[in-house]
Amino acid sequence: MTSTIDPSTIGKAKSRRHIRTLTGYTAETDAAGKEKWPIGDEKVWKEGIPPVTTEVPQITKSVVHHVHTSLARQAYNLDNLGAYQATAMSTRDNLLANWNETQLHYNRKAPKRAYYLSLEFLMGRTLDNALLNLGLKQQYGDGTQKLGFNLEDLIEQERDAGLGNGGLGRLAACYLDSSASQELPVWGYGLRYKYGIFQQLISPDGSQLEAPDPWLEHDNPWELARSDVTYHIRFYGYAERLEGGRALWQGGQEVLAMAYDVMIPGYATKNTNNLRLWESKPKRGFDLQSFNAGDYERAVEASNSAEAITSVLYPNDHTTFGKELRLKQQYFWTAASLADIMRRFKNTGKDVSEFPDYVAIQLNDTHPTLAIPELMRMLVDEEELPWDKAWEIVCNTFFFTNHTVLPEALEKWPVGLMENLLPRHMQIIYDIVSVWAFLQAVEKKFPGDKDRLARMSLIEEGFPKNVRMANLACIGSRKVNGVAELHSELVRQTIMKDFVEFYGVSKFSNVTNGITPRRWLDQCNPGLSNLISETLKVPKATFLKDLYKLEGLLEHVDDPAFQKRWAAVKQSNKERLAQHIESTLGLKVNTRAMFDVQIKRLHEYKRQTMNIMGVIHRYLTLKDMTPEQRTKVNPKVVFFAGKAAPGYYIAKLTIRLIVNVARIINEDPETKDLLSLYFLPDYCVSLAEVLIPASDISQHISTAGTEASGTSNMKFCLNGGLLVGTVDGANIEIAEEVGESNVFFFGNLTPAVEDLRYQHMYHPVPIEQKCPPLARVINEVAEGRFGDGGVYEPLLNTIRQNDYYLLTEDFDSYIKALELVDQAYQDRTEWIKKSIRTSAKMGKFSSDRAIMDYAQEYWNLEQTSVG
Ligand SMILES: *Cc1c(COP(=O)(O)O)cnc(C)c1O
Repeated sequence: MTSTIDPSTIGKAKSRRHIRTLTGYTAETDAAGKEKWPIGDEKVWKEGIPPVTTEVPQITKSVVHHVHTSLARQAYNLDNLGAYQATAMSTRDNLLANWNETQLHYNRKAPKRAYYLSLEFLMGRTLDNALLNLGLKQQYGDGTQKLGFNLEDLIEQERDAGLGNGGLGRLAACYLDSSASQELPVWGYGLRYKYGIFQQLISPDGSQLEAPDPWLEHDNPWELARSDVTYHIRFYGYAERLEGGRALWQGGQEVLAMAYDVMIPGYATKNTNNLRLWESKPKRGFDLQSFNAGDYERAVEASNSAEAITSVLYPNDHTTFGKELRLKQQYFWTAASLADIMRRFKNTGKDVSEFPDYVAIQLNDTHPTLAIPELMRMLVDEEELPWDKAWEIVCNTFFFTNHTVLPEALEKWPVGLMENLLPRHMQIIYDIVSVWAFLQAVEKKFPGDKDRLARMSLIEEGFPKNVRMANLACIGSRKVNGVAELHSELVRQTIMKDFVEFYGVSKFSNVTNGITPRRWLDQCNPGLSNLISETLKVPKATFLKDLYKLEGLLEHVDDPAFQKRWAAVKQSNKERLAQHIESTLGLKVNTRAMFDVQIKRLHEYKRQTMNIMGVIHRYLTLKDMTPEQRTKVNPKVVFFAGKAAPGYYIAKLTIRLIVNVARIINEDPETKDLLSLYFLPDYCVSLAEVLIPASDISQHISTAGTEASGTSNMKFCLNGGLLVGTVDGANIEIAEEVGESNVFFFGNLTPAVEDLRYQHMYHPVPIEQKCPPLARVINEVAEGRFGDGGVYEPLLNTIRQNDYYLLTEDFDSYIKALELVDQAYQDRTEWIKKSIRTSAKMGKFSSDRAIMDYAQEYWNLEQTSVG
């Protein structure tokens, strides 16, 4: 599929554009067909290219250089933050050397490229990851030491890039790491939010407070502002239909999209891909006319509204709110990205009919679905292609990943809102509908089945009428995938059922999610990574590039010396976490206890409420025991972390309950050595990196059929933590790999859930009867044992009333599963063996495997090494 530029097209391309463009490359050749150096003296140019600094003396020089020139500071007044910035800029120089080579390589070879469109990229910190991927961590550590700084302290200075809510955004970040590491020509496209996911604070009464996340407060050394890569993006106005299905969209408002590039280094390769993030800006700065008329406020207003588009990430996970600004974000981002993709495609000189041979676009959830009508608009209105030809190109370009079957998460946009903001796109959607309905009629597959047609329509009837984004994404894409086997099956059986019957099942498949072992093993748990490397007697790159290699650990499972070292790594990670908690929160944690962790977005379907109810149950059980009985109990520390959407009242109440339960039980002299509880505020990637390696057991306890995949379950297992979980999402596939004896499963299965909900609706049974232990816990909370019980009534009522997430159905088996965990932990050697076996079988869950699935099964993409 990859090919070099066809020389016969070069003249054609040149006539349209400048030879030296930022993103395009058009080679000029001499008579012999040899490529000419584009400008100036080739030798002088080549000597001027900065070398990659791999030796300590060069590194210290480059850091000092940045201290003096980029920061205008000196040794006399350099703090950790300044030293971090200079170190980051020196590292960036190295990334850029590879990045430049990679982009030139791609432009020369003009391979098929894939683009990952995601409204969220939860990147976390960059410095540590960049140094590890470059293989320069040791050298930079030595270099900064010579300059009087400790590299680990500098790494801590960096703020997380929190441009995402949770799993979906972190998945996008892992996929970028794997694309570069697998030498695949993949770019990410997203938005450069000025404020990422809010900072979570806990108020004195235990509630969540939100503060803005000013992550760009200090210069961001990891991005390159491309003031020369801009596009005009139109909103509002009117669309006038012309002949041949075309239309002219005019008027309204135009804003400017400006590119920022973030370098994405591959691990142990030169290949360095790009993540392009768009920032919105007013088209002409101030509206001069208003300004001259003395209407200063109005002039500033226009600039405010343009800038508002990329000012803030919407903090909802798995829910939609239908705000106009959100729709603006989606169009702004997809339109800028497609314009950029089209420009890059045209630089190859190919005909637009070949677009799908050179471009694959993955839609990360329905958020970028407007890319489908936008590409239609470009092809029909601008390229003047016939409608059918344009539609064929579109349907061969896009691939759609569904991330949830929860009804509240399925995006719909009111037709009126769309008509006003994007009049031309609404026309196109209606045109797709009529062609679609026509197809239906022709197929005569399901004669007279009007309900089916109504379900499959892009427009949901009602007041207001809505555009169904998942239906649009499905019919405009070549493939639709879920993110774990069970989830993909549910997609086929529920939200896409009619489409499966229409298209056949082959359009609907599965790519199980993965995580990058670079960040989620080597970076967050260097002790374990070193131990694995020593035990397998291979360099780390061997298993970090091929995670199946961890299976080699299985032959060491029974080696007591290895078991001891394995346990020692876990213990030191627990101590590292305890130190972190002591230095950030001033709390002392018992590191001799079992560490039980649930960290993820707060959501009713994830059932943090069941976990805290379980903690209370354990507390009450301990209180009921005699001191003699208590001596037999294994001490346990329970950790929670996670953010609730600011408008999600019930989820916020759960946080409040956790915090207030912690206050009571951590102070109880009878039990505090046996059970303590921590809610760690402001969950983010960096916090995950210290929590996960310290976990003995972690909880993934969603109501069966609700968690599409989960990825933190994979992170814990890779770090030797065991799972307690429901038969849901990727838990199932993890158990298939590691063996069911190494996973603590409990709870009702997916097929039972619908019936149970029906029972709850129409034949409710009082909790006291259904689940006495849970009834007792609920009563204790209601009666004020953990502070004003009245506060929690709305939360308790979700369980007492229809109990949609089925806590009363699963609580008994949940408690039993936790008892089995306690028993298993008593036999420490057996536990360590389970831990080793679990890590050893995590090969499948590398995001390298996942991204290669996408590349081979969907995108038809080839690896291309920069060399
Ligand atoms: C991995 C990760 C998630 C996803 O966690 P789940 O438990 O799979 O929902 C969310 N947030 C952060 C910061 C993560 O690293």
